[in-house]
This record gives sequence, structure tokens and C-alpha cells, in this order.
Amino acid sequence: MSDDPSYGFDTLQVHAGARPDPATGARQVPIYQTTAYVFRDADHAAALFNLQEVGYIYSRLTNPTVAALQERMAALEGGAGAICCSSGHAAQILALFPLMGPGKNVVASTRLYGGTVTQFSQTIKRFGWSARFVDFDDEEAVRAAIDDDTRAIFGEAIANPGGYIMDVRAIADIADAAGLPLIIDNTSATPYLCRPIEHGATLVVHSTTKFLTGNGTVTGGAVVDSGTFDWAASGKFPSLSDPEPAYHGLKFAETFGPLAFTFHGIAVGLRDLGMTMNPQAAHYTLMGIETLSLRMDRHVANAQRVAAWLEQDDRIEAVTFAGLPSSTYHHRVAEVCPKGAGALFTVAVKGGYEACVKLVDAVEIFSHVANLGDTRSLIIHSASTTHRQLTPEQQEAAGAGPNVVRFSIGIEDADDLIADLDQALAKATA
Ligand SMILES: *Cc1c(COP(=O)(O)O)cnc(C)c1O
Repeated sequence: MSDDPSYGFDTLQVHAGARPDPATGARQVPIYQTTAYVFRDADHAAALFNLQEVGYIYSRLTNPTVAALQERMAALEGGAGAICCSSGHAAQILALFPLMGPGKNVVASTRLYGGTVTQFSQTIKRFGWSARFVDFDDEEAVRAAIDDDTRAIFGEAIANPGGYIMDVRAIADIADAAGLPLIIDNTSATPYLCRPIEHGATLVVHSTTKFLTGNGTVTGGAVVDSGTFDWAASGKFPSLSDPEPAYHGLKFAETFGPLAFTFHGIAVGLRDLGMTMNPQAAHYTLMGIETLSLRMDRHVANAQRVAAWLEQDDRIEAVTFAGLPSSTYHHRVAEVCPKGAGALFTVAVKGGYEACVKLVDAVEIFSHVANLGDTRSLIIHSASTTHRQLTPEQQEAAGAGPNVVRFSIGIEDADDLIADLDQALAKATA
């Protein structure tokens, strides 16, 4: 069995979802570069369309290379099933889609990836959905934000750009008491550092673009379902508990049990929203995941060393990295992400905006890009790029003030990274 859940993480990251190709014996998962699949006969085709038999119909819905990645993601997160899609942002819409409807809201952490703040505060309004942002450290405020129209709670385990670690268990308990699913964006942590389902999460979403693929080649996303939420208990999730009109009245919860969300996500979500992952992207991501734990250990060790070096440097005002004892969130590392606090953090540089702009121009190993979770070390000055459109107040609130740069520490030699920052800081603050 390639995905016996009793195997350790390092075994699952190589083997889960991948078996020798039945047609050729190919050991690596082949890239099934096909749009459609020949039905055995008319009865077979009808059974597939009725979801009475699981198989391949059309690659907007399912593809064997993508299916291998889905199984691997479910195994690594300890979930019942997973749906892969075209990007992390697609995964967020795909996760909310069966739960929400016009007039419904999601209660979300204030500490989220900037793109998610925009997606939740602006774009989802066009579907009649809304988001209420609250400080997830204020449990009373989270409870107070939930009302009869709330359909999900959403937060990031280790929040991009770093420094904040969510008390996943505490928020899961609030979601449980309200009969609501907790959705965790686990992009920055990866399942190697944090397994949100073990802390009570219902759904886990990923931008596989980042550490999971790990080499900066393809965008992708995933939604992993714990399979443990009772969709019929409250009557709030009719797409899953009641006859689904978009699938000739099929009752997903009754028919598929713990795989209800996964089947709905494919049969209705991918079918009608079309945000499908292509087999090439699934291939690159499968290859990346094979070395996830090895890379994450190095990312974390390097981040720890670089952050500690920066913190003691005179040219630096502050470093927000939960791996440092000085962080307000250091005490949550052992509970939430015991193998380390990730590899993202922000740094306030003395000399403000001018020094930051010079710093990103002076680095030689670090790349100045709008990405994270690459094997390469990355740097960005948010105030002059990703957060340029925001007011100074909004920039401060987002942790992206004019004097702040964000780092994603790669897997190079830590000594070389420190030497690079040393020479670049000398130029930036001269
Ligand atoms: C990048 C990112 C996303 C969005 O993912 P894409 O693959 O770029 O669509 C969502 N959440 C977090 C935490 C991210 O870092």
C-alpha cells in the first residue's frame, strides 16, 4: 500500500498516491497529457456520470496525474480527500463555494496573505458573500463576529508574512461550538511543520505554488478535507446535506459520507468553476513534495540563523520571526508547529524607505521577487511593490510599513546568505 497512513511523513511524501503505472510499469507518476478518456461502453459512461463508479471522464474534473497529487496531499495532511486546483486563490474559492451563498459571511483573521485580504474584502462581494476580519488572538471578538449567516472561519496557521502563529486549537473550539467549519490556509507552514486537522481544522487550503512545489516553477492549489465535519447537523450547508440541484438532486453527505466535500468539490466545484490544475503542474508539484521534509528542515534552520543574525545587527530595528525567543508568538511554536516556525519573516531596517529600496537593489544571492517558499532566498520591499496602493495607515496595519522588508529564506548556505545581507546592508545604510 503506497499510502498506508501509518507510514511516516518522509515515506508518505515520496509514495502516497503513486503506484507503478498499470499500463507500463512506469515508476514515476506519468504526466497523463490527455483531455478525455475512452469509456468502455455506454453503461460505463453512464455510471461515471452518475458518480456510481469512480473513474476519469474529462480533465476539467479529474486526471490521473492530478489524482496522484490529491491522494498525496490528503495523506500528508491526514485528511479523507483532497481537490487540487489552479492556484492558492482558486483553492480558497473552491473551499468556500459549497458552504457560502448570497448573504452569507466568513469570519477571517486580520493576519492573512495580502492577496487573500483583497479577495475576501472586495472580490467575493460580487457573489453576495462577505468577510468579517477579526484579531484571532481575541477569542471574544471571534465569537462576537459569528452570526446566523456565518458559514466558515478562516485563518493562516503561520501567517504570511510571518511572525504570527495562530492558536489553531482555540479557534477550532470556537468553530465547533458554533457548528461551523474551520478553514486553515497552511501554505506558509506546509503539512511538515503543522497539521491543522490534528488541531481541529475541517478544511486545509494550500497554495502549492510555494514550499510544496518548492522550486518556483508552477502555480497550484489544494483543498484537503478532514472528512470529520457533519454537514447535515445544522441545516446550514444544503449543497452538501440536501439534494444538490446542480447534480440532479444527489445528496452528497448521504451518498459519500466523509468524502462528501471532496466529491462535491470535483463534481460541482471544478466542473462549473473550471479552476483545474493541469497535469504538468501536478507533476512538478509531486516532484517537489518528494523532498519537502528535507527542504523544510533546511529552510527553518537557515531562517533561524539569518533572523538571529539580523536581530543582533545595529542596522536593524526589529525582526518578526516566531522562531526567535523575543517574539510574542514564540510560545506557540512548540504546540502549533513543533518542527519550526517556517522561513518567512519581516525586518524593520533603520534608515526607512530609502534604506529598504537600496537593500533590495544591493543583494546578490537574494532575488527581489513577489513570491515565497522557493529554494532560493527571496526579498521584497512591500511598501514600494505589493502594498504600494495602500495608505500609510493600511501599510502599517498589514505589517508592511515603509521601513519593512519581507524575507523568504531559501536552502542555500546560511553563511553565504548572512554575508550577502551584511554587504547589502552596508550599502543600504551608508
Ligand atoms: C501565495 C499565497 C496564496 C495565494 O496562492 P497563489 O498560488 O498565488 O494563488 C494564498 N495564501 C498564502 C498564505 C500565500 O502565500
